[in-house]
Amino acid sequence: MIIARTIAEVRKCVAAWKKEGQVVGLVPTMGYLHAGHASLVDRAAAECGKVVVSDFVNPTQFGEGEDLQSYPRDFAHDCALLEAHGCDLVFYPEVSEMYAEDAATYVEILSEMPKQLCGKTRPIHFRGVCTVVSKLFNIVQPDRAYFGQKDAQQLAIIRRMVRDLSYGIEIIACPIVREEDGLAMSSRNTYLNPAERQAALVLSEAVFLGERLTEAGETDAAALLAAMRAHIEEEPLAKIDYVSAVDGVTMMPVSKIEPGVLVAMAVYIGRTRLIDNFTVGGTADDC
Ligand code: AMP
Repeated sequence: MIIARTIAEVRKCVAAWKKEGQVVGLVPTMGYLHAGHASLVDRAAAECGKVVVSDFVNPTQFGEGEDLQSYPRDFAHDCALLEAHGCDLVFYPEVSEMYAEDAATYVEILSEMPKQLCGKTRPIHFRGVCTVVSKLFNIVQPDRAYFGQKDAQQLAIIRRMVRDLSYGIEIIACPIVREEDGLAMSSRNTYLNPAERQAALVLSEAVFLGERLTEAGETDAAALLAAMRAHIEEEPLAKIDYVSAVDGVTMMPVSKIEPGVLVAMAVYIGRTRLIDNFTVGGTADDC
């Protein structure tokens, strides 16, 4: 596996692969990799001749007072995981390689979409995500890029960006990978102490409850969300940021539960903010 720290190295490798006619897949990550990330790499390796994974804690997507400084990092562990899952090149740049000191150009969706759900409490988050993913697309020029359904709003926003900016890149959505007890895998789970780790189960429990109620025929979003909120509120360590039902493409609130609706939540467990979601009728895979 090649470890590339510069944009020039990535461009050189990918150019050589493209000359050979290889299909290139990209998996953008912020490192501290787990089985959720590995599932994206596996899928990319199964579908692409060459797999590039970016491992970069992107400062522009963190707001004031968020966890940029404390975000967990372990590059040696990441390399071992990536090598075992068939990654061909890991891009591991310094912040200065990605952003000139006076960088002032951003990619931002100017609609309501990034202001919904996580955007309500993280107003600059998706501008940072779009900017870095756009840069990664320009650097790697992949044929396909792989994203987790765990970050459902991010995925919808990337799809919109790809459409609006005419990137010739296929976006592939991968299902949420969970711990055995249901907790959605996340690099941030490492922040949880044992009591919080137990309390964090309310997120997946609420997702499973929502799925069961939906399958049983509940179509009233307010009733569904009330039942899910009530379950979360039983846990003293949990504080709800949002539990919402939105259109799976536009991210705008809906009142009726029907196929394609995204039911998403963000919940603080102690000081750690966790997210989880499900899509009614399952997720459309590729776009
Ligand atoms: P992150 O490193 O948290 O920015 O995540 C990088 C990519 O991995 C994103 O596309 C995430 O949606 C995806 N991802 C993170 N956790 C999971 C999970 N538990 N299951 C599936 N995909 C995930």
